[in-house]
Amino acid sequence: MAAATPPYASDALPEGAVDAVVIGGGAAGLNGALILARSRRSVVVIDSGSPRNAPAEAVHGLIALDGTPPSEILRRGREQVRQYGGRVVFGEVVSAESAAPSADGDLRFTVTLADGRSVTARRILVATGLKDVLPEVPGLAEHWGHSVVHCPYCHGWEVRDEPIGILATGPASIGHAYLFRQLTEDLTYFTHGTDLDEDTRARFAARGIRVIDTPVSEVVDDADGALAGVRLADGQVVARRVLAVAPQMQARTHGLEGLGLPVQDLPTGRTFASGIDGTTEVPGVWVAGNVTDPVAQVGASAAAGALAGIDINKVLAVADTDAALQGIAEGSPQGVTE
Ligand SMILES: Cc1cc2nc3c(=O)[nH]c(=O)nc-3n(C[C@H](O)[C@H](O)[C@H](O)COP(=O)(O)OP(=O)(O)OC[C@H]3O[C@@H](n4cnc5c(N)ncnc54)[C@H](O)[C@@H]3O)c2cc1C
Repeated sequence: MAAATPPYASDALPEGAVDAVVIGGGAAGLNGALILARSRRSVVVIDSGSPRNAPAEAVHGLIALDGTPPSEILRRGREQVRQYGGRVVFGEVVSAESAAPSADGDLRFTVTLADGRSVTARRILVATGLKDVLPEVPGLAEHWGHSVVHCPYCHGWEVRDEPIGILATGPASIGHAYLFRQLTEDLTYFTHGTDLDEDTRARFAARGIRVIDTPVSEVVDDADGALAGVRLADGQVVARRVLAVAPQMQARTHGLEGLGLPVQDLPTGRTFASGIDGTTEVPGVWVAGNVTDPVAQVGASAAAGALAGIDINKVLAVADTDAALQGIAEGSPQGVTE
């Protein structure tokens, strides 16, 4: 849902058709918009202002920007898009669907916001990211992005040498355990109802990873509200400072159903399917970032947005030329698409 108060200044929604509407103003969407705006394409980013990494204090593992708050990277990104004439509109897209083509046969889409406003686009880039779905353990969600982490590359260094627990959610947690073992010698694996075969138990034992099979009933905090451990179903409390969880990752598809984008079910969750450069099976619609690639970090998401932006510009250049030719054939040499 869109926040009640815009987290940043919003541009006006343009009248008439724009070359591209980018749905989602995270790293993927803003970099796609930057490429398009610098190619002198009219582009509007519509963004509901809740990026996936909002709880994190800083973005890590991103060259030159390591340690920068996520909000600062996005603030700079919006500024840069605007510098080249792109617009960034705060709002939530509740519907996007294809519309009647232009007079020269070029594609058109209608994108509608929650407040009822709408904009017409020649092409669409979907960059709405994903939602992390945590296991339902009381007290867990409150620490998400701080003492409850998912990504060794995002916050691993920051939790090095701490007593870490892996709260298993499925097979992905096994690989997770080896990665967090690289960061601490004090690692406990809570199977929490998931399978763990004998071979893996032997491999864990070889690396000094303790395994606890009793289910976790809640996360326990200390007097200051910091994560202090987990309570097991038998009442025992196991002291931990950090929990690593592999969440289910669900693409944010709400409001985009009308585009008819195919989805794919991965072991980690559901995403929009995509091909090279973020192309999809739906003509005129591209996808980029976590909405199609759940493991993409900020750098990879930005790169995917840029590649999609480049491809959109290329396709528009062909469409512009087709329209010009058609215009000449019909005796109207401007060949301008409206
Ligand atoms: C706690 C945490 C910490 C992380 N730390 C790091 C890190 O240190 N380094 C790193 O590289 N990566 C990190 N990541 C991963 C990072 O969050 C993602 O790689 C990145 O956010 C993906 O960018 P994106 O543009 O695809 O999606 P997002 O950043 O999630 O942006 C999507 C945008 O689309 C908007 N949106 C969604 N639906 C709609 C709609 N219907 N209408 C309009 N707008 C919509 C959202 O509000 C959001 O602003 C972290 C993730 C988490 C959860």
